[in-house]
Amino acid sequence: MEKLVSLCKRRGFIFQSSEIYGGTGSVWDYGPLGVELKKNLKERWWNAMVRARTDIEGLDAAILMHPRVWEASGHVSGFVDPLVDCRNCKKRFRADDPKIKGTPGAPDAQCPACGMKGTLSEARQFNLMFKTFMGPVEDSAAVVYLRPETAQGIYVNFLNVQQSTRQKVPFGIAQIGKAFRNEITPGNFIFRTREFEQMEMQFFVEPGEDMKWFEYWKAQRMEWHRGLGLAESRLQFHEHTRDELAHYARAAFDVQFDFGGTLGFQEIEGVHNRGDFDLTQHQTFSGKKLEYFDQPNNRRFTPFVVETSVGADRTTLAVLVNGYREEAVEGESEGRTVLGLHPSIAPIKAGVFPLVKKDGMPEMAHRIADELRSHLPVFYDDSGAIGRRYRRQDEVGTPFCITVDGESTSGGTVTVRDRDSLKQERVDAGQLRAYIGEKLRT
Ligand code: ATP
Repeated sequence: MEKLVSLCKRRGFIFQSSEIYGGTGSVWDYGPLGVELKKNLKERWWNAMVRARTDIEGLDAAILMHPRVWEASGHVSGFVDPLVDCRNCKKRFRADDPKIKGTPGAPDAQCPACGMKGTLSEARQFNLMFKTFMGPVEDSAAVVYLRPETAQGIYVNFLNVQQSTRQKVPFGIAQIGKAFRNEITPGNFIFRTREFEQMEMQFFVEPGEDMKWFEYWKAQRMEWHRGLGLAESRLQFHEHTRDELAHYARAAFDVQFDFGGTLGFQEIEGVHNRGDFDLTQHQTFSGKKLEYFDQPNNRRFTPFVVETSVGADRTTLAVLVNGYREEAVEGESEGRTVLGLHPSIAPIKAGVFPLVKKDGMPEMAHRIADELRSHLPVFYDDSGAIGRRYRRQDEVGTPFCITVDGESTSGGTVTVRDRDSLKQERVDAGQLRAYIGEKLRT
């Protein structure tokens, strides 16, 4: 993880927020390459979940919602974690932190940070929602929350979307957006942060059909993660036990990814069968019906919901961890660091290099880069030895490197080097767009 964090900073993927002021606790900024990587990932999700389907509609609901939303959803009363603090070192922990020895509050309980005994407070409930004020007067009547999940924006818009699109159940609503949680113990880089992005889809189905759709979405979502290039051996399902299951949930599975090291397998996505809990709660609290009218059968019902909820940042971390490797290169003294990102999410698709800065090579390489740039993100580089330039692209996950050499200016062909196999092929310069386009599709 340390190596990855350092690579991410050095190459402009991810920086600590407000670093020059000493940083903000567990908030991160995406740099030039990071923003491309995360955008590509979100686009892949949006394409698979919205654009490629006729039964899912997109939505972009606001972050600030009516405060009653969070009473209806159960977040005001129940979105809490048990918090304990150490009177000696002032550090805070979740009461269920496995590193705590003994029961917090008891004299023999030991602080996992300073090691003192008897200094841990008893657990108290801490609400994870960020509060702010709407309007100029800071009184309690104007308290609003930064949403801790995007799902509620979908539920409250269920009928707006259904009626405006004339979708019939079963159908889904998807959105990508920021969520905020005042986590007690954030950390592990972008794994658990206080501001993050979720990609959520709520699928509305007829009661009784819910388990069928739950199984369907479970399989679809795992397939999506595999398609992203996450190694089969690093992916698994975790079924929520009775203790873990929310009181309203009928079934829940997490897709877990093996982050290695001390983290190991951790949730990257949740697939939940939420029954009619959310729509029913919003009907009760708002006094407005959120029922579906089934025209052919002339009846009304409150649909059940199957939810798929995945973190864009946590998945970004998963593809970085999955792709990072250091390897020896045959015939070379120096090894290389590679980010084996799936080509579809790689921030730069091709590096374009003149072998040397003379004999018309830079001009031809510039022409190629300019032509490709309107179709693909490319990077022109003529500084340093060619091996160095290859390494720089390997390290940021660029799948192809195009080199203009002595043969290029006379014969019109260039070499295209594959990041993973290191094989070089000669390709007609005029065919480059089609050649790379084809490779990116597979
Ligand atoms: P965890 O148990 O790790 O706190 P959760 O079960 O509370 O997660 P959900 O509410 O199901 O998570 O949110 C869905 C997804 O949103 C998670 O699978 C994860 O990818 C992402 N996510 C949730 N909390 C955070 C966070 N603090 N930082 C980054 N991503 C998060």
